[in-house]
Amino acid sequence: MDKRDVVILGAGAAGLFAGIEAARRGRSVLVIDHAAKAAGKIRISGGGRCNFTNLGIAPDRYLSDNPRFARSALSRYTQHDFIARMQGWGIAYHEKTLGQLFCDGKADQVIDALLRDLSAAGGELACGVSVTDVSHNGRYIIATSRGVVSAESLVVATGGRSIPKMGATGIGYDLARQFGLRMVATRAGLVPLTFSDALREEMASLAGLSVEAVVSSGKAAFREGLLFTHRGLSGPSILQISSYWREGESIRVDFMPGQDAAAKIAEVKRSAGGQITGNALAKLFPARLASQLAAWAGTTGRIADLKGTDLQRLAQTLGGFEISPMGTEGYRTAEVTLGGVDTRDLDAKTMEARGQPGLYFIGEVVDVTGWLGGYNFQWAWSSGWAAGQVV
Ligand code: FAD
Repeated sequence: MDKRDVVILGAGAAGLFAGIEAARRGRSVLVIDHAAKAAGKIRISGGGRCNFTNLGIAPDRYLSDNPRFARSALSRYTQHDFIARMQGWGIAYHEKTLGQLFCDGKADQVIDALLRDLSAAGGELACGVSVTDVSHNGRYIIATSRGVVSAESLVVATGGRSIPKMGATGIGYDLARQFGLRMVATRAGLVPLTFSDALREEMASLAGLSVEAVVSSGKAAFREGLLFTHRGLSGPSILQISSYWREGESIRVDFMPGQDAAAKIAEVKRSAGGQITGNALAKLFPARLASQLAAWAGTTGRIADLKGTDLQRLAQTLGGFEISPMGTEGYRTAEVTLGGVDTRDLDAKTMEARGQPGLYFIGEVVDVTGWLGGYNFQWAWSSGWAAGQVV
């Protein structure tokens, strides 16, 4: 039987990083992935340029049933530590917006550097290998398509359910259940929102149009781009709010961030009184959106004729349009999976399962989900690093 100190399931960001750290400590490490190549999600991330971290990493930018859980790992291995790693690798990067750091070139550079480090530290990577069974008899016994491996420590880094066609599976959740850990129900996050037929058709007529907006749900609010699509709404502000939105709730869209909608409408009314409202609003918005906003407010006549409640309704549509999504596009297009292994059953410092020595969960499989903008990779690096120090 192949005997190792550490077996890591999943050669994504978290698994590779944990593998490097453990191998550098002299542990014999095998990283197993059923995909033909490691780190598929790094390759496609950030539009191919990998938004690898964010300057503004802070625990309150992560969603979890236990918001304090991520604090330890994020503070012990920070965005600055990973930036230093990037500099050490000689990979050029830049800040795009809102503290988001992207590679200047292709995301493959990050994968190549991780694989080089793993190999240099003596760690082994086995791609195209599937796991058929895991048991524990003092050591972890992992039955795979290339034989049985035993390990003192088993690190589960199999990610979430997002983008199943890239090889996402629920194996991490199954293993958590098998070893008695609790689960927080999973759902798609950072995902476009969908709407009922009538609204969807209206949005489809605006497909391709992108505007800046503040989108809010409860106390969460994001001021970023909003994109109309053939299926509904997308763009960073919508992806962000999708992680907070719950079925049955509405969201609010402020199409005039930082401006007083009523005052702006009054200004337009003074200067373009003879025009129908949709045309007059083209002073403030792209023409197609201006007409649709007027239609949503039910103010299709001349702007000069709008009185009290009509004006109020128009101001509300422009400055706080309340809409009820029907759902999300689901795991097919979601960037992340919310929920996962319940953090109450994990040690925040080491990621080890409570009551199951030698079993670790890191990365997206854990109930810790970051905002859009590099937060999720930082969680993968930080949690992977934390486990890598102790496995
Ligand atoms: P993953 O990267 O998902 O890795 C899990 C690995 O486990 C995979 O290689 C998979 O093949 C393997 N695996 C799964 N099941 C099995 C099994 N049964 N047997 C063996 N192996 C298995 N985050 C950012 O911070 N910045 C970005 O720019 C960004 N862009 C993104 C773009 C897209 C399109 C998507 C989908 C996500 C993006 N994310 C981004 C999110 C980020 O990719 C994930 O949060 C991150 O990859 C999670 O890392 P992980 O190692 O936990 O899991």
